[in-house]
Amino acid sequence: MSMRWDVLIVGAGPAGMAAAVAASRGRLRVAVLDDNAAAGGQIWRRGLGETAEPAKQKMLHAFKECGAVLLAGRRVVQAPEPGVLEAWCDETNVLERYHYDRLILATGARERFLPFPGWTLPGVMGAGGLQALVRGGYDVRGKRVVVAGTGPLLMAVAAHLKHDGAKVVAICEQASMARMLPFAAQLAKKPSKILQAVALGANLRGVSYKTGCWPVAAIGNGRLQHVELTDGRRRWTEQCDLLACGFHLVPNLELPLLFGCRVENDAVAVNAMQQTSVAGVYCAGEPTGIAGVDAALLQGEIAGLAAAGNTGGAEKLVARSKAERAFGEAMTSAFRLRDEVLRLCDANTIVCRCEDVSYGSLKALADEKNNWTDAKLLTRCGMGPCQGRVCGPAVEALFGWKNASVRPPVFPVPIAAFITEPQSEFDNQQALQEMQ
Ligand SMILES: Cc1cc2nc3c(=O)[nH]c(=O)nc-3n(C[C@H](O)[C@H](O)[C@H](O)COP(=O)(O)OP(=O)(O)OC[C@H]3O[C@@H](n4cnc5c(N)ncnc54)[C@H](O)[C@@H]3O)c2cc1C
Repeated sequence: MSMRWDVLIVGAGPAGMAAAVAASRGRLRVAVLDDNAAAGGQIWRRGLGETAEPAKQKMLHAFKECGAVLLAGRRVVQAPEPGVLEAWCDETNVLERYHYDRLILATGARERFLPFPGWTLPGVMGAGGLQALVRGGYDVRGKRVVVAGTGPLLMAVAAHLKHDGAKVVAICEQASMARMLPFAAQLAKKPSKILQAVALGANLRGVSYKTGCWPVAAIGNGRLQHVELTDGRRRWTEQCDLLACGFHLVPNLELPLLFGCRVENDAVAVNAMQQTSVAGVYCAGEPTGIAGVDAALLQGEIAGLAAAGNTGGAEKLVARSKAERAFGEAMTSAFRLRDEVLRLCDANTIVCRCEDVSYGSLKALADEKNNWTDAKLLTRCGMGPCQGRVCGPAVEALFGWKNASVRPPVFPVPIAAFITEPQSEFDNQQALQEMQ
């Protein structure tokens, strides 16, 4: 008979790790599935032992020691029945089946990309995407980089790139200074954030940070050579080798939607215990709203305690969690997209890169009052390998089209996944051995 996990967690970022540490205090059988090779999520990608910051070391160490089993390299793709999910393992080429009593979804967020002329040129990358490449060994020494878009990630990425030897030409933040002031007031209430901001400022000394400024075109012969920027009044160009460009983050909602969790205001609806609208399913971190790493850690801990039955322990954290949520709301408001960045495309600008769908063809459908499903059927927008993960948030921003449904498998899997029986025994035996 297959083993049941008392608490199964999807996502080994800060929220998932904090949930695992908290749930494991109750001596339960806890496992964490993540599609990366190591725990850490987006922010702590490099894994245990390769990071110097004490807060990261502390959490990564607590996670390693807590007794929860990390099932890395597994991507959760479907949920065939209540209490069961299936994950694809690239290493073994097997669809694995997991049984659980309680589930915590901590699937994080991804960058939002907005199309503009030239954004598909080689050399134009997502800001977080370039950071991830650099963490994986991509050499940016001596490369001239413009960092543009919106959100606090721009500064974090710029500091990282500069530290690793890039010449950061400028950081261009589309939000105006006036819009960012209330967020700055929230920051000022948090000593830890002030320290982070001061450290970032010191790392970025000499780098120009322009607010109310955004890219209008990436230009080059076969690859990026310069970027055209504007502050709404004038236009100028900056020579660069790379443009790191992202427009804040959007929650990863595919799995919560697959499990039937209610989504409100583009985030998973949860109560104070991080319980979703589905009994026994909790959600923590960025899928409940973009609010940063401190919120993810607190929500993860609350979800882990609540899933383990320790609601008293979880309640003690609720006030702090609410404060982090308020910080997240101020951040979302500060970095709201200005209208101008939604009007950058020309008719030929590609919006869906997987299926080569142009802005012009989508605009024609939008003008005829079609929706996202119509656009998918008529143009194949969002039907390619990324399954709308890149173009979905863009078309939502451009045309107001929301993705109304998800279908399993929520990530593309090889056909082998459907011609063999999902495995449960093999992996559960292996996991048990790892626990001993
Ligand atoms: C690209 C990127 C770079 C970032 N860089 C920084 C930074 O430098 N500094 C900073 O302060 N903040 C950064 N952030 C923001 C930061 O990630 C959040 O503030 C916070 O850490 C989120 O924690 P989390 O646990 O909610 O999500 P994450 O850290 O994103 O963890 C979610 C985990 O779930 C996994 N996952 C998702 N779906 C599945 C699935 N179906 N099956 C299996 N596993 C799955 C993901 O691979 C990931 O490991 C970044 C965000 C992004 C998107």
